[in-house]
Amino acid sequence: MQLRYSFRLYPSAGQRAALARAFGCARVVYNDALRARESARSEGMPFPKTGDLSKQLITEAKNTPERAWLGEVSAVVLQQSLRDLDTAYRNFFDGLKGTRPRTGPPRFKSRKDTRQAVRFTANARWSVTPGRKLRLPKIGDLKVKWSRCLPSTPSTVTVVKDSAGRYFASFVVETGPEEVLPEAGPELGIDLGLGHFAVLSDGTKVDSPRFLRRAEERLKKAQRALSRKERGSRNRDKARLKVARAHARVADARREFHHRLSTRLIRENQAVAVEDLAVKGLARTRLAKSVHDAGWSAFTSMLAYKAARYGRTFVKIGRFEPTSQVCSRCGVKDGPKPLHVREWTCGACGAVLDRDINAAVNVAKAAGLAVSACGAQVRPGLVPAPRSEAGTHPTPQPSTAR
Ligand SMILES: [Zn+2]
Repeated sequence: MQLRYSFRLYPSAGQRAALARAFGCARVVYNDALRARESARSEGMPFPKTGDLSKQLITEAKNTPERAWLGEVSAVVLQQSLRDLDTAYRNFFDGLKGTRPRTGPPRFKSRKDTRQAVRFTANARWSVTPGRKLRLPKIGDLKVKWSRCLPSTPSTVTVVKDSAGRYFASFVVETGPEEVLPEAGPELGIDLGLGHFAVLSDGTKVDSPRFLRRAEERLKKAQRALSRKERGSRNRDKARLKVARAHARVADARREFHHRLSTRLIRENQAVAVEDLAVKGLARTRLAKSVHDAGWSAFTSMLAYKAARYGRTFVKIGRFEPTSQVCSRCGVKDGPKPLHVREWTCGACGAVLDRDINAAVNVAKAAGLAVSACGAQVRPGLVPAPRSEAGTHPTPQPSTAR
């Protein structure tokens, strides 16, 4: 399995300038190649080959006064940029053939694009120095925040600058299935909801953590400040950058939370089931879509790949029975309930059911997992006392608790 590992980079002013040159050169080569192919197409000429373009637009162009500055950056970066264009064309043609989702034709890159990237492969001779810095050819030794360990040595590193002006080193690492965890007993159903981020069939309700909520509040504040700034003013530009930064922080905090929770759930449970979000009724309302959809699918895909990696079972169930209409204890279907009904008593077995937990248990059951329904119950149903006990007073029992 291939996993992507990203680490924050802290380039110096000089290194930032060198990276800006690399982004710019990669973009120019990409655009030159795109232009060459587009004009060949409009003139009815054959599609120019990548090897020819590389020779013409990189090797030979360096000797011309207009493109001499291409020599200031690693040639590998420029070649990778041509590869990116090949990929963009391949995706476009495959889309036309119907072998993958349709995408538009490759487009010219702009210096105003929010995401800038360059890629270094093994033959660019990038390395990690003994002092744990990232050494990039013609850029220097960059400070890295190594927040995690790499499971194996990557061959390629992509350096990215995002819309908030932050730099990242992104490695693609091959991981084997050798990390299978010892078997864990419990099996778990998860209901992704609006009131809570997730409700588990064991009765746990998981809310988004404080660090994420605070990042979201800061983003709202930054957005309000931006809307008050006059169009075209310098202050508006500053406010826009602040919003971009706040957005990035929210995205980071959310990813962090998803990672923590998905790792915990996969470690502690042998099997995990969720409802397929495409069929989840709530996800279709506008509010839910804007706020939760992206987060949920990122979270479930983390569950899926972590389950595969650690030897756990992950089940995504399609629509079966509406989770709120069926009692998770006795299985009796007693009809739809409006959203404000959070708790009800099953007419058949008398269990007092919590809407969210009941749904999580039903998800687990539909996936064929072994869960007990007791998690769904707020309290057990009132069972009529047997005749012999009616009317008697409870006798005090000796306490063994202490
Ligand atoms: Zn029931």
